[in-house]
Amino acid sequence: MTPDDEKFLRRAIELAAAARAGGNPPFGSLLVGPDGDVLAEERNTSLTDADITAHPELKLARWAARELAPAIAAATVMYTSCQPCGMCAGAIERSGLGRVVFALSNDQLAALKPPPAPSSFRQDGPALLDEARVPVEGYYT
Ligand SMILES: [Zn+2]
Repeated sequence: MTPDDEKFLRRAIELAAAARAGGNPPFGSLLVGPDGDVLAEERNTSLTDADITAHPELKLARWAARELAPAIAAATVMYTSCQPCGMCAGAIERSGLGRVVFALSNDQLAALKPPPAPSSFRQDGPALLDEARVPVEGYYT
């Protein structure tokens, strides 16, 4: 963790505070490009947008995948006030971003929240392999 890392993490924490002040869950994130410039900033807007996916990390991952060349994305760092959740981690993986620096870990966040509700959906599968594989076979080759 460098002094610059801490500077950008403090900005992410400021964005988290701004999200809370604006009526949303307290999370903020930013992207810093290879030259040390802030490329984009986001805050959680899941309540004001009525969008359960409006996490700042997800919004920035989508922006990076859309706007950055792969080599630039790989050299770009996401600074975020809390370790990305599973949804956001998946999007970051697909975005090509090269590094994430977070302040609170998921465990540290969990200690600040009420206990989570048990998972509310059931997954049934796999099924229909012979049929389901047809549209996929050959796509990734
Ligand atoms: Zn998330």
